[in-house]
Amino acid sequence: MIKITKFGGSSVADAEQFRKVKAIIDADPARQFVVVSASGRRFKRDSKVTDLLYLVDAHLSYHVSCDDLLDSIGERFYSIAAELKLNYPMGEKFQAFVREVKGGSCTQEYIVSRGEYFTAQLMAEYLGFTFVDAADVVAFHQDGELDMDRTAQQLKRVLTEKSVPGEKLRVVMPGFYGATRDGRIKLLDRGGGDISGSILAKCLSADVYENWTDVSGFYAVDPRIVPTAEVIRRITYTELRELSYMGASVLHEDAIFPIRDAGIPIVIKNTNRPEDPGTVISEVAEREGEPEPIITGVTGKRDFVGIRVVKNHMSTEVGFLRRVLTIFERYHVSIEHIPTGIDSCAVVCQKQDIKDVLYSIVADIKNELHPDNIEVIEDLALVATVGRNMASRPGISGHLFGALGAAHVNIRMIAQGSDEINIIAGVRADEFERAIKVIYQAFLNSDGHIDCV
Ligand code: ASP
Repeated sequence: MIKITKFGGSSVADAEQFRKVKAIIDADPARQFVVVSASGRRFKRDSKVTDLLYLVDAHLSYHVSCDDLLDSIGERFYSIAAELKLNYPMGEKFQAFVREVKGGSCTQEYIVSRGEYFTAQLMAEYLGFTFVDAADVVAFHQDGELDMDRTAQQLKRVLTEKSVPGEKLRVVMPGFYGATRDGRIKLLDRGGGDISGSILAKCLSADVYENWTDVSGFYAVDPRIVPTAEVIRRITYTELRELSYMGASVLHEDAIFPIRDAGIPIVIKNTNRPEDPGTVISEVAEREGEPEPIITGVTGKRDFVGIRVVKNHMSTEVGFLRRVLTIFERYHVSIEHIPTGIDSCAVVCQKQDIKDVLYSIVADIKNELHPDNIEVIEDLALVATVGRNMASRPGISGHLFGALGAAHVNIRMIAQGSDEINIIAGVRADEFERAIKVIYQAFLNSDGHIDCV
């Protein structure tokens, strides 16, 4: 059994968190491969080491002194090393880094990557594991694309080199970065430590990828909107894509791609409450004999704009929709939804994508398509109800829209994904939270849990 365990920034924020990580690792010998983020926030208004390192780079580019900033970053690492009585020469190594930074030859990506690098060095010693540098493993093409084939080869080589006969190799690797063939450090996206863990899981054909964070999994609804929200126990990759796209963020979206085809499940676990079961993400979420929830979650996003175009007999005018869409393409605006009727259609986009070109688009539609009417719906919020068990089951959307109707929430647009696992309702932005609450509550049983099919 091979488990990849990845710990996010808050899980490695200070010595206290390091102790929790060690207890988790010691509790299961299958936890042989550890990936860490850079130390994150220790308390609410604290800063993440990664953000501070980006700030160092910004200071350098404006020729502003960053001595204090570097001191406070160094302090984060010194205190962990001192409190855990580690031998790693943290002071010496950090001062060498400071000299490199001040020498002016470091790239932004190199500077920022040192957050995970030092965190992993300390963690490796504390756990008694071998440190493996991500620059020797995670490979990028020159254009910045990940090179999975070379990554797999390099990992194999590095693990063989580091192995000691008769001993089980246990490894800590920093997340978030890798290197090109010529040794240039490259970063993944922000939050990309999740992707590093996933890459390792894929290359090692792991049985499971555990992603340890500071929440006990994905909530079925935002607990800031519904404080009694329950944690989703099992979810499919597809459902997760829908939920994450619309707002739920626990795991980096791209973390599922490397392992999805290999069928490796991801488990989201809470470093501060390891006894909680967490959320299991896999291709097929059903389990023999276990009840299945009607819906998996409700989420949503504000800040959409809808452009409604009305023209009599539109649906019989060949090419009408294509011509509308071409105008959006002309302005490089991506489209979220296109609900259509007989004499009207609406195009829904994210506000940030369209705000600068909205009136040019409206003008072009008027000039080229001569609609009877055109209306811009601003402040549109979309609420998505997601669930694998909604597909081919009559009555669910009736129940959902019935609940919104009874609560007097006006629905301005409806869309459903072609695989029937999501139902999207457009509502006014000021009714967003109420709509989410109403829908979630509509699917609860008398015990306050999501009803089962
Ligand atoms: N440290 C990086 C960030 O803050 C990557 C990660 O935490 O996954 O974005």
